[in-house]
Amino acid sequence: MQTIRKRLSILFFICSIGAILLITVFVNATINNKFNQYMLDIQNKREERIVSYFQEIYKRDGKWSNNSGSELMHEAYMGNYCLTLLDSNKKPIWGMNPNDIKNTSHLRSMISNDRGVYTSKRFKIVVNENLVGYVDIGQYSSILLSEEDVNFKTSINKSIIISGLVTLIIIIILSLYFSKQFSSPIKEVANMSVKLSEGNFNAISNTQSNIEELENLRKSVNILAEKLKYQDMLRKRLVSDISHEIRTPLNILQNNLEAMIDGVFPVTEERLNYLNEEVIRFGRLLNNLNTLKEFEAESIKLNFERVHLNQLISEICEDFYMAAENKGIKLHYDIEPNKNYDITGDRDKLKQVFINLISNALKFTEEHGEIWVNLYTDNKHFIVEVKDNGIGIKKEDLAFIFERLYRGDKSRNEIEGSGIGLTIVKSIVQLHSASIDVESEEGEGTTFKISFNKSSIISRKVETKNN
Ligand code: ADP
Repeated sequence: MQTIRKRLSILFFICSIGAILLITVFVNATINNKFNQYMLDIQNKREERIVSYFQEIYKRDGKWSNNSGSELMHEAYMGNYCLTLLDSNKKPIWGMNPNDIKNTSHLRSMISNDRGVYTSKRFKIVVNENLVGYVDIGQYSSILLSEEDVNFKTSINKSIIISGLVTLIIIIILSLYFSKQFSSPIKEVANMSVKLSEGNFNAISNTQSNIEELENLRKSVNILAEKLKYQDMLRKRLVSDISHEIRTPLNILQNNLEAMIDGVFPVTEERLNYLNEEVIRFGRLLNNLNTLKEFEAESIKLNFERVHLNQLISEICEDFYMAAENKGIKLHYDIEPNKNYDITGDRDKLKQVFINLISNALKFTEEHGEIWVNLYTDNKHFIVEVKDNGIGIKKEDLAFIFERLYRGDKSRNEIEGSGIGLTIVKSIVQLHSASIDVESEEGEGTTFKISFNKSSIISRKVETKNN
């Protein structure tokens, strides 16, 4: 196994070496090619010049002599080529010995690749359209290079190799730097996920990255950790809440029964009824948990039909009106009966939602308090609002009230309840593609707002028609 940094560095390194080698070979080949071409041009021009020199000499003298043009011999010797002058019958007039330049030109010929094989080219000397002779120009390589030419070529090759090496060093440094940029956040996120898998939900990744995907990965793992932490906290809380909910009725039963067995309490019908009520309460808690389980397993079946929200809410409010009066609470509801508030939904389940909210408002509002139930619409939603000026919810409790078995301190100790109602409410609301929001101020009151999406209601209408 390799670390991501090592693997990235090796990859960068291999790619760079490949690229540098290719560039070096291409640049070298191109420069050699162009340079040889250039030298060949010079050579051709030199040959033309030599031929025209002999033409001029013949024009001047009208014939060949043993030293016609022999002054070129020195230049030829210095330039590592051989000259031989021939008359029109190809009989040599004078000529240089190729062996004289062999030693000096051998080195150069090795460089230009044709390994010291002497070759000569013959050029006609034409004067006034008459062929008057020939000149042979011979050399030990196809391209003749002077000492300076060879040095020039070598220095260019050296520069290419040096720049290749310098680039390689720069690339190694850069690849180490960039691979670290990639690897650090990934390494941290990987370490963090190991910690999460070990149950340490407090882990957090702080190394920011300017690579979008890596930054997104880091953020989402942090969010994941937050959520796991939250879920873990809820799970622990749920266990303690459940044990509390079960322990309370059991303790009451146990204490009373023991007292009756010991003869401390007389066994009266009234006491037995009281104990029976505790058993019923206990049973109700289990029933509620069962309902919740069905919602969470999504095994609950909804019977969608057309529901007139205004009518349904008016009926529920009428039912609650007396109960509120009896508790000294004023229940206000002013629902427009003739306006269209039709949605597609499960009537019974929606009824359960509104009953839960209104009965909670009643439970958590003290005498002389008020409750308002409003139904109104905006562009996209039908909104049902249940508002009270009761005891309110503590800020720190607000985030948890929709969780299973969550109950505020006060309600836990003084007010009857199971802490499941709002969890079920939220499940039903979500099954109707609606949303529920809560606003509350401790001591001031609470407002629950359910928004039914008009467009999803229309689409569901079509679905139910098709079914
Ligand atoms: P419960 O059976 O305890 O009413 P719910 O799930 O219906 O369970 O509510 C959860 C908790 O939310 C309650 O215990 C209470 O603390 C808080 N709550 C709900 N509705 C209100 C309200 N209208 N005013 C104040 N607190 C509320």
